[in-house]
Amino acid sequence: MKANSKGLLLVVSGPSGAGKGTVCAEFLKRNPDTFLSISATTRKPREGEKDGENYYFISEQQFKDKIAADGFIEWACFCGNYYGTPRDKVEEMLESGRDVILEIEVQGAMKVRSEYPEAVFLFVVPPSMQELKNRLVGRGTEQEDVIAKRLETAVWELSNTFKYNYIILNDNLEDAVSRFSAIVTAEKARVARNREFIQSFS
Ligand code: ADP
Ligand code: 5GP
Repeated sequence: MKANSKGLLLVVSGPSGAGKGTVCAEFLKRNPDTFLSISATTRKPREGEKDGENYYFISEQQFKDKIAADGFIEWACFCGNYYGTPRDKVEEMLESGRDVILEIEVQGAMKVRSEYPEAVFLFVVPPSMQELKNRLVGRGTEQEDVIAKRLETAVWELSNTFKYNYIILNDNLEDAVSRFSAIVTAEKARVARNREFIQSFS
């Protein structure tokens, strides 16, 4: 089936530690044509994170300059650091027909919705608050005070779930990836996204 010529924009949010990164990485392994947008951030790199791979790690001044140059589709401050989605690559990928994933927090996602109303909004949820804490602690990438801040923010983020189109329960990774794939398949089959193909019959 010839789908809409433009790619699908998938916006993935969820509380820190829910497993957004893990689910997206697994989805991307199975769907290598999908493009994962690399954000810019003022956060310091974690051990093993590489500039230009996980994030573009930039200074606060560089971040502000990019805002002034309208270089971000959206940006937000999360737990004391700035994060933003660079505009150029996302537009280029969507125009070329590739699906794009933005893995971003809630405030930024809502800004994307006003500019891209046709985007699909997915919210990754953990099985419980206790499991969220276990995963965040178990990941071992943040100090205790940062974990506490992220868990506090998680309560607010979860209260925003109703603004999204779908939840993806990440209890078991394999099931979560299947849910993700099923949503993408269904969204691609929407009549509204296949007008050109449908009209080709008349
Ligand atoms: P996020 O990107 O939402 O902050 P991560 O993808 O970094 O979360 O996952 C947080 C931690 O939870 C990681 O250590 C990851 O390996 C683990 N994790 C992710 N998904 C699952 C799952 N389905 N079951 C158990 N642990 C998981
Ligand atoms: P982390 O520090 O764990 O990598 O990311 C913290 C939060 O920032 C996560 O919820 C992540 O999805 C979000 N995030 C990452 N990149 C962006 C971005 O470009 N814009 C926004 N608004 N949030 C982002």
